[in-house]
Amino acid sequence: MFRQVSSHPDFVSLEHEVLKFWEDRQCFEKLRRARAAEAAEVTEGAKEAEAGRLFSFIDGPITANNPMGVHHAWGRTYKDIYQRYKAMQGYHQRYQNGFDCQGLWVEVEVEKSLKLNSKRDIREYGLARFVGACRERVLKFAAIQTAQSKRLGQWMDWDNSYYTMADDNMEHIWYFLHRCHEKGWLYRDQRVMPWCIRCGTSLSQHELLDSYKEVEHDTVFVALPLTDAPDTHLLVWTTTPWTLPANVAVAVHPEAAYVQIEQDGKSYILAAEALSKLTAAPYHISAEFSGSALLGKAYIAPFADLPVQKQLKQAHTIIAWSEVDPAEGTGLVHIAPGCGAEDHELGQRFHLPRLCPIDEDGVFVAGYGSLTGVNVKEAKGLLLAQMQQAGVLYKTEKLLHRYPHCWRCGEELVFRLEDEWFISAEEIRPHLIKAAASVTWLPDFAGKMMQDWLTNMGDWCISRKRFWGLPLPFYPCTCGHLTVVKSGAELEQLSGRQLQENRLHRPWIDEITITCPSCGQRVKRISEVGDCWLDAGVVPYSTLRYLSDRQYWQKWFPADLVVEMREQIRLWFYSMLFMSVTLEGCAPYRRVMIYEKVHDEHGRPMHKSWGNAIWFDEAVERMGADVMRWIYASHSPTITLNFGYRLADEVRRKLLTLWHVYSFFTTYANIDGWQPAVDEKGRLETGFREKRAVGGHGDVPLLDRWLEARRRQYFQAVRKSMDAFDVQAAMREHESFLDDLSNWYVRRSRRRFWKNENDADKESAYETLYQALLTMLHLLAPILPFITEHMYQNLVRSMAPGEPESIHLCRLPEDETNTGTASAADAGEMLLEQMKAVREVVNLGLAARNRARIRIRQPLPRLAVSGVDSLSHDPELIQLVQEELNVKEVQVLPAAELSAMLTGEAPPWIVERIADICVALDPTLTPQLVREGWARDLVRHIQQQRKESGLSITERICLTIAGDEKLAGAVEEHGEYIKRETLAEYLRWDGKSEGLSELKSQAAKQVSIGGLKAIVTMERL
Ligand SMILES: [Zn+2]
Ligand SMILES: [Zn+2]
Repeated sequence: MFRQVSSHPDFVSLEHEVLKFWEDRQCFEKLRRARAAEAAEVTEGAKEAEAGRLFSFIDGPITANNPMGVHHAWGRTYKDIYQRYKAMQGYHQRYQNGFDCQGLWVEVEVEKSLKLNSKRDIREYGLARFVGACRERVLKFAAIQTAQSKRLGQWMDWDNSYYTMADDNMEHIWYFLHRCHEKGWLYRDQRVMPWCIRCGTSLSQHELLDSYKEVEHDTVFVALPLTDAPDTHLLVWTTTPWTLPANVAVAVHPEAAYVQIEQDGKSYILAAEALSKLTAAPYHISAEFSGSALLGKAYIAPFADLPVQKQLKQAHTIIAWSEVDPAEGTGLVHIAPGCGAEDHELGQRFHLPRLCPIDEDGVFVAGYGSLTGVNVKEAKGLLLAQMQQAGVLYKTEKLLHRYPHCWRCGEELVFRLEDEWFISAEEIRPHLIKAAASVTWLPDFAGKMMQDWLTNMGDWCISRKRFWGLPLPFYPCTCGHLTVVKSGAELEQLSGRQLQENRLHRPWIDEITITCPSCGQRVKRISEVGDCWLDAGVVPYSTLRYLSDRQYWQKWFPADLVVEMREQIRLWFYSMLFMSVTLEGCAPYRRVMIYEKVHDEHGRPMHKSWGNAIWFDEAVERMGADVMRWIYASHSPTITLNFGYRLADEVRRKLLTLWHVYSFFTTYANIDGWQPAVDEKGRLETGFREKRAVGGHGDVPLLDRWLEARRRQYFQAVRKSMDAFDVQAAMREHESFLDDLSNWYVRRSRRRFWKNENDADKESAYETLYQALLTMLHLLAPILPFITEHMYQNLVRSMAPGEPESIHLCRLPEDETNTGTASAADAGEMLLEQMKAVREVVNLGLAARNRARIRIRQPLPRLAVSGVDSLSHDPELIQLVQEELNVKEVQVLPAAELSAMLTGEAPPWIVERIADICVALDPTLTPQLVREGWARDLVRHIQQQRKESGLSITERICLTIAGDEKLAGAVEEHGEYIKRETLAEYLRWDGKSEGLSELKSQAAKQVSIGGLKAIVTMERL
């Protein structure tokens, strides 16, 4: 016997049982051991063969900084699905999960939790304590994320996760940096960098994209007097007033039209296209000229009295810049080469001085008068007052525009001049482009995005002025020699000190000095840490033991698959590519898959503060991991996923459909004592699969032949999609097969399971349905690991103890089509086509019935159909249509004949068409047909009543029906039918009208049949 199956499953508690089962039986460990042993067996002495047995997945490290969210669960679902699928194909895998540990985002969270708000606060708190707190936070959330991932059903070697903060990971990066230095790519430069004054560090180019948010700023128009004509003013506009004290030039477009205007007794110069920007006061134009006429003219700077401005040796002049847009602002652009990247470039071209007014915390430095010591965020009032006083403020104006923000802490960025370390990208760029072209990108456009990025990216800024991160191993000596230490061992050797584990971080490493190999002086490390994308980028080397076990690395490199969000193209995918091409000249992955973001049900981004965030823990315990995984797997990876409980309910209904087929099967199999054939080793006999081969078996019933052909087709289609890493396409196959199984096969076969006798037909139905269920479970196992395990234990293990202990230890058959002959396969194809036609005809027929508003239980005289010639000679198929549409006769006609018939007089045909198929339904009712419809209505009511009274599906009853005399004929004529359908041993018509008024017996129920009253009394036998 199969275990009894509840019709109201609790999926969440089922999942907890399965988790415990896996844990108790050590299923994952058994899987790994089995696949490793199989791979070793095949590969003895044959390297090439081994490669074919390994599947190398490399995990993009999750930032261990918070509990994981439902968006992480999307990616983790993909990772788990493909690894489980590959395991079912027999591949040996590493299953290593990774945690990203270092960098600003961890620091920011630790700062928040310790209530620190600046780098100064951190220094006061103590660097060693702060770094210790960062490490603790990482370990805490790594443990939480591990538990959450297990709950999602993800199978990973959790005890062997990698951490990017590990010494080994950092030493691999040192090695990479050393190689860059050998190639001459490493350099230090002053650059204007996007800068977060709260975090006190620069952001690199790839961190800047997507960081723009719409904000309102005060912009100012300043009027700067010309040195030789103090009554004439250059009208200059800026969105960043705090940069005006660092002004050194004004740029104009040399070919654009400019004008001089007179307003309120003063003269102003601005672009002709910018006249609309003037205040409302009346003005007139006194002169017109091109921008080139302004070039070289000197003007008085807006904060000319500041000490830094007075020190400047050269005058402030007007320069030419073709990028000036005369329609933007006033067409005269304020230039401060210390405060903007383009300004900086222009400054280099014109040899302009650079003033950098603020320090790394955003505070004005010495030389800026009363501004010195003021934070740029608080300087607005002071700046405006000073400009007002100096008479240079023309007007202020609010501006709504897109402005970059720090992607970690949300602070508005500034641009400031800073010393940074870079890796030059020029020499490696063509090699990156070539390597990226060798990769399979899923979907294709991801590859195009990578190519665009590689073509346009600048040099890689790798330094960060922070604390918790990779210490850059750069020791610049005053003699000019730069030592880039390549390993801990080398550091020990050059410093003469012994290193302790986990002491490569700041502040400990800062105390270590080395002897300059060139001049012998002691040299200190620079204080900067590295870009966290170095940490993650080196993973295909560090986790595969590149420096310690080259054979192991060769075995698992490159990755067969990496899967992360789209934004990783210019982040992780990029840094991995850069580092791998530098080290080995090739891409670190063969296949890269991307997916989109997760939003809420209404399409809004989820935000803690908006209250619309769904936490993973809540989601998984409310909807269940299988439901979540179904949602993720069936969604397009290229479209934002709008995640929520309503979507979960929809998916849950589909899961219930599968459950109901399973429940239907086990219920009837138990009633009939049906069991699958099991051999002496306790394994399922596979022979019966061959027996099912289609064709040449005229004795196999039609629906079984069809389901078997459909099962094979489904198997092939899912395999094909999964092999192409397209689980979304596989999900479409699953859903369509489930629909065929539930809404067609089981529904059409119900009667075959209900009947009393255990004949060949019934046996065939059990075998076919059992096989279809097993195939579905195996193909769904990687996607829905819980429910499939649960069903497998009941359907397979309870009968065949020799089968693998867990469904996830099973191997998928290589091919399901090579049984049977070619003509059998053809017959299968043919049957699939025919059944498709049957279902199309049925759908059209139902539409016609709907239009006529005739319920399905009311038999109709006939249906004529054309465009389905493949059905014309098959009475079994015709009968399916007849039963499904409840019509007495179905005629398959040539199209011409059907249309000729339709143009004739009666009956009032109801016609529906799709493509070539046309159906015509005759809705004419006779009293006889009406009575038959009543009988069917009665059956439905009685069946409902059986359910409500809690009768088991095999219990027999005794029926008494009373009511309107018109119903008597229906009960009499169709008595046998009613008894058969409702398992009634006795049926009695009790026409006495008083029956209508007294509903004494609890087993009696009043129902309405075609508007007529009836009372049905049901008694157990
Ligand atoms: Zn920040
Ligand atoms: Zn030196």
